[in-house]
Amino acid sequence: LLRAIDVHKKFGDVEVLKGIDLDVQKGEVLAIIGSSGSGKTTFLRCINLLEEFHQGEIQVDGERIGYTAGSHKRLGESAIAAQRARIGMVFQSFNLFPHMTAEQNVTLGLIKVQGRRKEEAVEIARRWLDRVGLAARRDHYPYQLSGGQQQRVAIARAVSMEPKLVLFDEVTSALDPELVSEVLAVMQDLAKSGMTMLVVSHEMSFVRAVATRVIFMEQGRVAEQGVPAEVFARPKSERLAAFLGRFT
Ligand code: ATP
Repeated sequence: LLRAIDVHKKFGDVEVLKGIDLDVQKGEVLAIIGSSGSGKTTFLRCINLLEEFHQGEIQVDGERIGYTAGSHKRLGESAIAAQRARIGMVFQSFNLFPHMTAEQNVTLGLIKVQGRRKEEAVEIARRWLDRVGLAARRDHYPYQLSGGQQQRVAIARAVSMEPKLVLFDEVTSALDPELVSEVLAVMQDLAKSGMTMLVVSHEMSFVRAVATRVIFMEQGRVAEQGVPAEVFARPKSERLAAFLGRFT
């Protein structure tokens, strides 16, 4: 479903991605772990074309992101927006519209991007808000919701568009500790339903329990990968062992 081929990304002279190769199958829950600055966020943002990259290629469902099929011609903004709409993203900082209710935050994309009728969008939004445990909060504004509730609205907003895959960028890092588990429970529920997910996370117990595969990024490269039980029990490198040691 997702294929990254030799993706390189520079900020100025600094190369932060040094050739990422990755294949993700439909239904996989891929966890991306690694130290701060290893390039995890940058890689997710490249998948969604929130960052330009100067070398390599990313395909979603066989379609090259950012370029016309079979050529090196850059797509126009509207075609890029259409590709981006097939990839959901949830950010650390929720990014909800403050002047809109939970329900309006979810219906916005359904109406504006997918062109759905308002009644239909409302029905979909309610179904997803119910699924993330917020049926009673749909008319609340973000400031009336806890961080965990806001993040659950953001997840509902992303998945309501039925993306092919959903990117989660440290979505619990900004939350008070007691609110983390409610968000992880929603993500676990989505993972069980077969959603394809790429999850950058420092929540190692979640990664261990939910991920089908984990990759360890180190200085812009995929340094190690495997099923969580194997990677956690038998890290091959000193660096991964040291990294994991910080969480025990
Ligand atoms: P963290 O866990 O702290 O989010 P990360 O592994 O996600 O770390 P990135 O955020 O991808 O790492 O950053 C990789 C490197 O790229 C870092 O050294 C960072 O300083 C640099 N970087 C990220 N964004 C920019 C930018 N817009 N301009 C310049 N440098 C950047």
